[in-house]
Amino acid sequence: MAADCLFCKIAAGEIPAETVKQADEWVAFRDINPQAPTHILIIPREHIPTLNDMGPDGAGLLGRLLLAAKEIAADEGIADSGYRAVLNCNPGAGQSVFHIHVHLLGGRAMGWPPG
Ligand code: 5GP
Ligand code: ZN
Repeated sequence: MAADCLFCKIAAGEIPAETVKQADEWVAFRDINPQAPTHILIIPREHIPTLNDMGPDGAGLLGRLLLAAKEIAADEGIADSGYRAVLNCNPGAGQSVFHIHVHLLGGRAMGWPPG
């Protein structure tokens, strides 16, 4: 756990969040500033700042985070209408919390390319 990391504190239950699902190695909770009717963040319990910090040994974890997004999309009823699973890396891509997280967004039509 990183001392000053907001998402480590959420994973540890030290800061409240609206958790929707969790497993041994990840926690999923609703984004505090939702950008779509469903906007859920899926984070590993392990503190990893960005995708750039992951090596080949992260492949399994990254896959399981995406599979968690798929399962939660089904729980939320957006599996068929469509959803996005987005991972922002570094400030130029919009990353503001430096603990890796997958955004699950759905429940409305989305444009492409993203802003
Ligand atoms: P990023 O910009 O790093 O890709 O995404 C960070 C996300 O975390 C943002 O969508 C932001 O709204 C969300 N967020 C920031 N602080 C909190 C918080 O304290 N609780 C929750 N649930 N979400 C947060
Ligand atoms: Zn962290």
